[in-house]
Amino acid sequence: MTDDCLFCKIVAGEIPATIRFRDDSVIAFEDLNPQAPTHLLVVPRTHVRDIVELGQDPQLAGAFVAGVRATAAELGLTAFRTVFNTGAEVGQSVFHVHAHLLSGRPMGWPPG
Ligand code: AMP
Ligand code: ZN
Repeated sequence: MTDDCLFCKIVAGEIPATIRFRDDSVIAFEDLNPQAPTHLLVVPRTHVRDIVELGQDPQLAGAFVAGVRATAAELGLTAFRTVFNTGAEVGQSVFHVHAHLLSGRPMGWPPG
């Protein structure tokens, strides 16, 4: 738990969120500003800044990817996009690593 971290507070239940999946390693909740019919944020329960830091802990990284998979399975998603923003200049605004899990509409490529 990092005191000033929004997603740590959601993990701790101190800030409300619509939680759609949880296991020992992750929680997945609805994004407040959804960009697709399904837009969840999957976050590790442990505070990790970004995917660079997550990659330094292979056990946590593996559990996190398994949590993304389990979230998609729980929601019955067979086609989805996952996005990790890393760095403010590409749009990261919350510095607790999260996978955006987007589904339910056609998506263009390349992404903007
Ligand atoms: P990023 O900009 O990649 O760091 O993503 C942060 C995401 O968190 C954005 O898509 C926001 O809409 C979302 N967000 C911010 N505050 C909350 C909150 N209290 N509950 C759910 N999602 C949030
Ligand atoms: Zn945090």
